[in-house]
Amino acid sequence: MQNPQDILESKFGFKVFRPLQKTVIDIIVSGKDCVVILPTGAGKSLCYQIPALCIDGVGIIISPLVALMQNQVDALKAHGIRAGALNSHTSAQEKSDITNALRNNTLDMLYMSPERLLMEGTLNFLESIKISLFAIDEAHCMSQWGHDFRPEYSQLNIVKQRFQNVPFIALTATADAMTQADIQSVLSISNDYVFKSSFDRPNITYTVTPKNNGKKQILDFINKNHKGDCGIVYCTSRKSVEEMAEYLVRYGINAHAYHAGLQDTIRTQTLTDFLHQDDIVVVATIAFGMGIDKPNVRFVAHLNIPKDIESYYQETGRAGRDGLPSSAFMTFSTSDLFLHQSHIDLSDATMEYKTIKKKKLMSLMGLCETHICRRQVLLAYFDDTATKCNNCDACLNPIATYDGTVQVQKALSCIYRTGNRFGTEYLIDVLMGKDNDRIVTFNHKSLSTYGIGKNTTKTEWRTIFRQVITNNLAQFNLEKMGGLELTNKGVKFLKEKKTIELAKLENTKITKIPTGQNSIPILSNQDQDLFGELRLTRMKLSKTANVPPYIIFHDSTLIAFAQEKPTNKEDMLEISGVGKSKYGKYGEKFLQTIIKNL
Ligand code: ADP
Ligand code: MG
Ligand code: ZN
Repeated sequence: MQNPQDILESKFGFKVFRPLQKTVIDIIVSGKDCVVILPTGAGKSLCYQIPALCIDGVGIIISPLVALMQNQVDALKAHGIRAGALNSHTSAQEKSDITNALRNNTLDMLYMSPERLLMEGTLNFLESIKISLFAIDEAHCMSQWGHDFRPEYSQLNIVKQRFQNVPFIALTATADAMTQADIQSVLSISNDYVFKSSFDRPNITYTVTPKNNGKKQILDFINKNHKGDCGIVYCTSRKSVEEMAEYLVRYGINAHAYHAGLQDTIRTQTLTDFLHQDDIVVVATIAFGMGIDKPNVRFVAHLNIPKDIESYYQETGRAGRDGLPSSAFMTFSTSDLFLHQSHIDLSDATMEYKTIKKKKLMSLMGLCETHICRRQVLLAYFDDTATKCNNCDACLNPIATYDGTVQVQKALSCIYRTGNRFGTEYLIDVLMGKDNDRIVTFNHKSLSTYGIGKNTTKTEWRTIFRQVITNNLAQFNLEKMGGLELTNKGVKFLKEKKTIELAKLENTKITKIPTGQNSIPILSNQDQDLFGELRLTRMKLSKTANVPPYIIFHDSTLIAFAQEKPTNKEDMLEISGVGKSKYGKYGEKFLQTIIKNL
């Protein structure tokens, strides 16, 4: 059996294992099952790829996304690894090649969807060949509490029962306690075999801000921090995806729309462009992104809030897989909150399910309205801790707080006096003493709360009402068209004269994120020029080989080339990311570029 360290160096070109990689590899090689929960970019793939190469037989990798399997296969082939994928895109010829390779035990790794794996024919065939391991990527799909539940994933226990002597490894980047428990239960894995590290993504700068003109805020954010970078912008509806993409294009950004309503051919093209271009921005619904391994996505922006913190963390986690500085930017509003809330309420799920979903939504709103370090709030949600990070908007531009007791009393009394049935905008009109038809019709000018909030601006009232909701002092009442009603906690707040601290959230101006946080490691001017030349070399090779540039070498490897300037094979092999196979395929060309630019 080949030694894991040798494979790491010769195949992948890396010198040392990252935390937990070696531990997990040893467990799998010793024939045991395990669950691996590490943040995006931590290096989960090697945890199954290396054992698949060490143990005799083929490693079966279950992945939810057919569209991206080929990309993963290409990446492995670039390392000289014998990999294949079986899915609806596989041609008859490829299928028969793969079947032959499986029979002859000459394939290292095979990717497939859970649907295909669960087919009786597939299981029977697999029982007739030698299998090194089953790796279940994106394992959170097993849980209804995960953000991308896939029923077939929860049937993988069937496979586990039929292959009792093959090790199983389940991997995911985001699993809260309930999701983790579901994964363990489907595969019967005990706590002793769960490997988890901090969820922190220290290279991502988080910014969350109230929405005033969301499209413009996102454009400003891109222009000030990420001009010419690759990124993803998430919007909730297909219509807003299209509008946002058009808007960015109008302002000179290489933006493309992506949603489930577009033709297959267009979507496939956009996905290919995304993988191949370094300055592309894809504007998408959540249909886009899972399983994309592009390492140099420099930012993820949200025009609307997603449904919970897991989704937010998963989506923003697509930035900066390569560990270089990256950002996450989100705008939020009360109507985002209301939309999600009504979605939950109008679904035909059980009461218990709705309650949990709402709690999760409120945790996300809490993240938006917080005045403490966003990273601390995010990590606390996953039962993880962090010190004040100095790499989020709340740390970089501290958000002031104030004693909001009187304002909240006014807001709550207004909800109560108007009958627990009106929406925020109307309540604000009453508090501000506005004179309009509705107020006259409902005879609300005579209320004691009419006009008691004149000294507070409309924008301030909006954030006060949102914080009233996230503090669970009032809630949307769907039977009353989504108007606000006091909760028990709200009633108590008034009766027991409680006090409350509020965050002073203004529509924060988009500023440049302080340098040092958000720029590629500083190269000297001369090295920067060489880096540019190396990128051109990579682009040419990528076009010839028809693979994305990062499959050839990552930015981090090119940066090391620009700094170290290797001029011979030995020196180049010393650099992280250069294995023998890649050197053989591409090394010479990069050596030439370096020598030419010395
Ligand atoms: P995950 O699946 O956990 O999101 P990946 O497996 O895609 O992460 O790895 C993220 C990046 O880290 C990849 O570019 C990979 O090549 C790199 N990487 C993984 N392990 C190591 C290592 N031991 N040394 C250097 N780079 C590594
Ligand atoms: Mg992965
Ligand atoms: Zn912080």
